Amino acid sequence: MGAGITFALQASDEKARAGMITTPRGVIRTPAFMPVGTAATVKAMLPESVAATGADILLGNTYHLMLRPGAERIAALGGLHRFMNWDRPILTDSGGFQVMSLAGLRKLTEEGVRFRSHVDGSRHMLTPERSMMIQRLLGSDIVMCFDECPALPASEAEVAGSMRRSMRWAARSREAFGDRPGHALFGIQQGGISRELREESAQALRAIGFDGYAIGGLAVGEGQEAMFSVLDHAPDMLPAEKPRYLMGVGKPEDIVGAVARGVDMMDCVLPSRSGRTGQVFTRLGALNIKNARHAEDPRPLDDTCTCPACRSYSRAYLHHVFRSGEIVSAMLLTWHNLHYYQQIMAGMRAAIAEGGFAAWSAEFHAARTRGDIEPI
Ligand SMILES: [Zn+2]
Repeated sequence: MGAGITFALQASDEKARAGMITTPRGVIRTPAFMPVGTAATVKAMLPESVAATGADILLGNTYHLMLRPGAERIAALGGLHRFMNWDRPILTDSGGFQVMSLAGLRKLTEEGVRFRSHVDGSRHMLTPERSMMIQRLLGSDIVMCFDECPALPASEAEVAGSMRRSMRWAARSREAFGDRPGHALFGIQQGGISRELREESAQALRAIGFDGYAIGGLAVGEGQEAMFSVLDHAPDMLPAEKPRYLMGVGKPEDIVGAVARGVDMMDCVLPSRSGRTGQVFTRLGALNIKNARHAEDPRPLDDTCTCPACRSYSRAYLHHVFRSGEIVSAMLLTWHNLHYYQQIMAGMRAAIAEGGFAAWSAEFHAARTRGDIEPI
C-alpha cells in the first residue's frame, strides 16, 4: 500500500479472510460491504445513518459525479467527503463501467472513451489520465484504475482484446496516479469467464503493482454458478497480502460465497435500491412488503434485527407507507437492508476470527432457505 495506508490480515479460515485496511480517514474492517452513494448520497439515507448501520466505507461513482455536479465543483467545495458530509473512507469507481452502460453515442479508442452525457447530451472524454484526475479532485481514498468492461455477449477474442486494453490503461492509470501518500490505487482484473485470460490479466497487474486488486467483469448477468466458478480461482491469482475487491456484488448468498472464496471487499446497489422497491432482505430470505399478507401483521420484519425499522415499526405500517408512496418507506426499508448486509459482514468477520466460518455459513444458508415467517 502507499504510505499512510495499510492492509493487515488478522485471520483466515480456509480461503476466507478477515483483516483491516487502515487509512487516514479510518479503519475498514474486512470482509467489508460498501453501500453505493452514486450521486454523493446513499439514496434515502443520511450519512450518519449509513455509519450507524456499521458501514466503514462507501462507494462514489465517478461517471455520475463528473457529469453532475462536476468534479471541479466538488473540489472547489472542499472535496467529496465534505460535500456529502461523510468523513470516513470513500472508494470511487473509475467511470469505465458506467460510461459503457449509461452514456449515449460512445466512441471507444485506445486513448479512452468519448461520449455524450445521459443527463444533458454534453460531450465528454474519459481516459485513464482524466479518470485519475477526477478521482483526485473528488478526494477519493481508494481510487480505481480506468478499465473497460466489454458488453455481453462477447466472443473470447473480444474479451481478450478488451482485457489487454484494460491492462494498458492500468499502466497509464498507475503512471497518472503518481505517488499520493494516504491514498490507494487498485488495479482491476478482467478476462470474463476464461481462466487463461484471468491469469494473463493478474500477471499484467502484478507486474505494474497496485495497493489492492479488484475482480471486474463479473455480476454482469453471467449467473451465480459462472461467477463462483471464476471466483474458485481468480482471487488466488492476486497477491495474498493485498485486499481483493469483487465489484458490483451482490445478493446475500453471492457475498457469503465470494468471501468463502477469498474476497475481502464488495459493493452493490441491491440493498439500497431494493429498499425503494419494497424488497426486503432478512436472515430468513427475501420478502416483498407490498404483498397483502403484511397488511394486518403487527410483527417486525425480523424480530432479532436491531435496526430502527424493526425496533419501532410493524410490517403493517411498513406495508401501509410503501403502498401510500410515503418517503419514510424508502428510508426505513433501505436502513433495514443496509443494516442486514452489515450484520452479515460482522457475522463473517467474527466467524473467520474464531475459525468457525463453515459452521456460520451453514447456519446462514439454512436460515435463508427456511424462508419468511408464516403469515398470521
Ligand atoms: Zn431491521
